[in-house]
Amino acid sequence: MAVKIKAIRGMNDLLPQDSSMWQQVEAVLKSTAASFGFSEIRFPVVEKTGLFCRAIGEVTDVVEKEMYTFNDRDGDSLSLRPEGTAGCVRACLENSLIHGQEQRLWYTGPMFRHERPQKGRYRQFHQFGCEVFGLKGPDIDAEIIAFTAEVLAKLGLTEHVTLQLNSLGSSEERAAYRDALVAFLEQHQDVLDEDCRRRMYTNPLRVLDTKNEDIIAVLKDAPKLSDYFGEETKAHFAGLCSRLEGLGIKYELNSRLVRGLDYYNLTVFEWVTDALGSQGTVCGGGRYDGLVEQLGGQSTPAIGFAVGLERMILLLETLQLVQRKPAVDIMICAMGEEPERQQLKLALELRRALPGLGIMTHCGGGKFKKQMAHADKSGARFAVIIGDDEISNNVLSVKDLRSGEQQTIEMAAAAAYFKSVF
Ligand code: ATP
Ligand code: MG
Repeated sequence: MAVKIKAIRGMNDLLPQDSSMWQQVEAVLKSTAASFGFSEIRFPVVEKTGLFCRAIGEVTDVVEKEMYTFNDRDGDSLSLRPEGTAGCVRACLENSLIHGQEQRLWYTGPMFRHERPQKGRYRQFHQFGCEVFGLKGPDIDAEIIAFTAEVLAKLGLTEHVTLQLNSLGSSEERAAYRDALVAFLEQHQDVLDEDCRRRMYTNPLRVLDTKNEDIIAVLKDAPKLSDYFGEETKAHFAGLCSRLEGLGIKYELNSRLVRGLDYYNLTVFEWVTDALGSQGTVCGGGRYDGLVEQLGGQSTPAIGFAVGLERMILLLETLQLVQRKPAVDIMICAMGEEPERQQLKLALELRRALPGLGIMTHCGGGKFKKQMAHADKSGARFAVIIGDDEISNNVLSVKDLRSGEQQTIEMAAAAAYFKSVF
């Protein structure tokens, strides 16, 4: 036998027994997006490398060490998308979607980052994201957070996650703060790890989101970005907080929350859980008012977020808040020549009358016992049995596969019967 080729490390198959959980979560996200009036946008999985370098920032983990970058056959440097915002902005600019007009968009699909695979961290993972362009007030920030809170509520997760909130101010405010922070970090070089020492000059704010507990302890005395905020930033943040309070959305202020990508300003937020170890962020987002201009468009305020679907589903599974659903609700079995001829037709009639139910025909014939075993294994709730007797009496035998009870119903009443029991 030939040697089997394996999948790439950190890139998972989604197996049929698990796909129903994904579909349920995706359905909640998509229906929430629809109820908030958002439209779907789809853009490629691959873009020119320069797009991500310019959007995400050269001195970020993603661009420095996590991107899947390759030269295509024409010699162009391309990268698999590590996140959706850059491609979304590129697509909007290219198609004149945000020139002087507002957009509220959602997308979903795979993202790629060359990280060390572990629980909740993969090399191909999936995000559901939203981006809003053209609105600068705290009202849309609150609306975006309300969107995420609504998704979490529908999934039963409200009690299991906390909303962490921070403001990153304007780029001028960050520049002023940066000097104070670097001066502080220089005094504590001995506790900094290699990553932080390197970032101290290239991207000092990123030192704030270190996961190293010793450094976190030292950072308690670091200067605060909020001390550098002007009136506008303060008013924006206060406007957001009061709206969240009005919506009954609880939040925690976290001055160490800076997020992994460079393009954020003002509002940043994350929904975190402690049920998933250090991969505890299930959703993160924020405002990025400078990005559209940075990518060649007119200055356009923007805000967005992304949900990590693997982490969300892992959390729901851990808390037993999502159930796998069998694909089959009713298995139609037939024994004998004439019943087999009727079987497919009956199945089609039932499918048309009962949209939403999974109705499978047992194919390949075989003895009654074998067909029942197939019905059991499928996870169906009912087996419909058609034999010669049933055909001659115009009836069906219906076996409830949970209770084992079997009854006879009129063939013409089958659809009505199943409507009443599902
Ligand atoms: P982390 O700090 O956990 O690395 P991040 O800040 O890099 O996360 P974002 O770029 O904000 O993540 O992406 C948004 C969401 O996508 C994260 O909150 C997380 O749920 C998910 N995510 C990010 N990277 C991965 C990954 N490698 N595997 C699985 N999910 C991921
Ligand atoms: Mg990361």
